[in-house]
Formats: sequence, structure tokens, C-alpha cells
Amino acid sequence: MLIQGKSPQSNSSAKPLPKGGPVDICTGPVDGFQASSYPCEWKPIKVIGSEPDPKAHFVSEAQFRQWMTDMPKAELHTHVEGAVRPQTILDIAEEYKLPLPAPTVEELKVKIGMRQGEDLLAFLKKFDHFRFVFDQPETLQRLAYECIEDNARENIQYTELRINPRKNTEKVSIEQVLDSVLAGMDKAKKELGVDGRLIASINRSYPVESAMDIAKAAVARKDRGIVGLDLAGDEVNHPASKFAEVFDYAKANGLHLTVHAGEARGPESVLQAVELCHAERIGHGVRLQEDPAAMQVIKEKGTVLEMCPESNKLLNVTPDLKAYPLKTYMHYGIPVTINTDDRHIFDVDLSHEFTSLAKNIGLSLQDCQKVAMNAVEAAFLPAEEKAQLKQSFASQMQAFSSKLYQVSDACASERPAAP
Ligand SMILES: [Zn+2]
Repeated sequence: MLIQGKSPQSNSSAKPLPKGGPVDICTGPVDGFQASSYPCEWKPIKVIGSEPDPKAHFVSEAQFRQWMTDMPKAELHTHVEGAVRPQTILDIAEEYKLPLPAPTVEELKVKIGMRQGEDLLAFLKKFDHFRFVFDQPETLQRLAYECIEDNARENIQYTELRINPRKNTEKVSIEQVLDSVLAGMDKAKKELGVDGRLIASINRSYPVESAMDIAKAAVARKDRGIVGLDLAGDEVNHPASKFAEVFDYAKANGLHLTVHAGEARGPESVLQAVELCHAERIGHGVRLQEDPAAMQVIKEKGTVLEMCPESNKLLNVTPDLKAYPLKTYMHYGIPVTINTDDRHIFDVDLSHEFTSLAKNIGLSLQDCQKVAMNAVEAAFLPAEEKAQLKQSFASQMQAFSSKLYQVSDACASERPAAP
């Protein structure tokens, strides 16, 4: 039932786990497996340096990070605008004979990269350096393709991209932006075999009429890859209630709904998103923890949180990730997912996000597997396609586990059948 794992002091990256303390692998990371189904001793696998836990088995951060890269993953919350490669910004500036925002990639990274201590205004100004990349259908197509390609490199097999399609309207219309991003995603699916869907994002600062234009353009493309509507931006001055009729319209016309909330404002903002805008998922939700009654509402509704730890750290929503509430929500029964938000602004990838939480809040390998499966469960896909994706992930996750763990014949014989 038990296998032998390496000691907490080891930094070896060998796989599978070599000799050391016993490790119980029968902890039910794969959908349908329940920890209680196993007569084994529980022994979660964590990163060296994470929270003290006498029951845990520890591996090096580098090893854990490699596992997170290898693990099959889905990502639900990534903005095309924040996921533009610095090299691509320079390429497009050269191609269109525009002034370079910086002479080299390294210098550009300094300009557009977010650093601890900078505020929201500083974050928004980063985009001023490269707004020109959203001005042409061809470049938008390239950006979408590269988002999927970057994700595929770390085994993200399903991505929901989001973009605010109102750009420089003298150059590209809302419809052109959406069509171009969809074309880039189609190309990625054909060439890379990686599936994705698109969410149209509304800026809270917009007038309602402008938001409705975006919703209508999204609804018109719901059979071509747009699956949802999002609300983002200034949460403090523009409450979700302002957009209730837009979200009513989107829901009535078959779009899924997600709203950024509980980031700059507290739990009442999350409740507004859910109760007035029908949000099935909440972007961030970090401050939901401030009100247990609101947490109960979110749990009962089954609302999923799209959590973005590095974004929350750098924007000072949770400056110290050791206080990040993801495990609090997990233990409370609220489904959580982990996302990058704006990967090239925060200079992060999804494997890093998982590893960072493993280190800072003691998320175990098994927890990470569970969270990865949550993203599949919460995908804005039609039932049949979601069932296929879940089946694919369940079998891949099982194979992933099998590679990591050596199971004795005795243990295997007692293991319940996979669903
Ligand atoms: Zn976001």
C-alpha cells in the first residue's frame, strides 16, 4: 500500500520517488477516486519549505515544478492583452514601421513587467507601450495563436482566452477583433491540436450601450467559439449592478457568464456578480473570505473561483501569498481553479502558479491535481464536449499519477476501479 519516498532534505529530481519515508499515493487525486476509499495512511506530497506537516512527504521545488509542467491542465482566466510575448511586440512594431517601445526584449520586459509595490495605475500604464499590437486583424490572429502555443508548451490542453474587443475602433471593429482572435485559435487547434474557446470581456468603465454592443457581437458568434461574457476593470467605481441588463441578455441568449469580483472590493461585490449578473464563475474572489455568509452563498450556488495568485500578489490584493485563501475555499467546499491572468505582464506561467502555492500555502501534489480537474469541470463547454474533455483528463491524470508513483501489487489489487 505504501511506497518509499525520499527524505524531506533531498533535492534530487529523480522520478519516480526513490527510497526514503513512506508515501501513500492512494489519496484520490483523480476524479472519482476518494481518499476515504483507500485503507492507506494519508501522506500528501508537498514542496520542501512549505508549511510544516509531520504527515507530509516533501520533494524539491524544482521537482514539483517539473511535475506541474507535466500535469495535464486547463486554464480558464487568461487575457489576450496581458499574454502578448515581448518579442512579438517588437516584431509587430518593426513590421508596421512603428517606433520600438524598447530596443531589446530585455529592456521591454523591464518596461511592461509588473513589480511588487506598483499599483493598479502602473499596471494599466504597462499596456500603453504596446496597444498598437491590437490594431490589425492579422496581428490579433497571431496573438491568439501564440497564447495557445505558450499554454501548450506547459501541457495546458484547453484554454479559455478572453479579450476586450473594443480596441482602436478607427482601425478594427469589435467584430473584427473577435473574428481575428477566433481565427488564431482555430489555427492553433489545427496546427497544435489544442482546443480553446473565447470569452468577450467588458470594461466596467464603459457605458451600458457599449457593453451591450460587445454582448451582441459575442452572442452572434456563440456557435463559432465564443462561449462567455466577462466583466473586468474598475470594480470600485463601477458596480456589476450597472450591467445587469447586459448579462440578462447574454444569459437569455446562451452565453456563459463570469465576472471579476472580490479583488478591489469585498464580498458584496461578489454577491452582486452572482445575484445580479448570474455569474457562474468569479474572477479572483480573493476578498470573498471576509464574509462567511457570502462564502456560504457562493458554496450553495456552486460558483467557481478563477484565482490568479501572482496577479493578486503583485497588485497587492494579497501581497503575501502565505495568506492566500485558496485552501480556505477548498476546505470550505468552494470549487477553485488556478490561472495566470496576464502571463507576460506578471512574467509567470501556470506551472509556476501551482508551484508557488504549493510552497506558500502547502498545496499538496494531490491538491494540485484536484484543482486542475476543477478547471475542466468548470469549462464553459457544451455538455457533450465537456464530458469528452473530462474523460480525456481523467485518463491522462491517472497516467500522470502512475508515472510518479510506484504502486505495490497489493495496493493495486485493493484499489477501487476507476470510473
Ligand atoms: Zn483578469
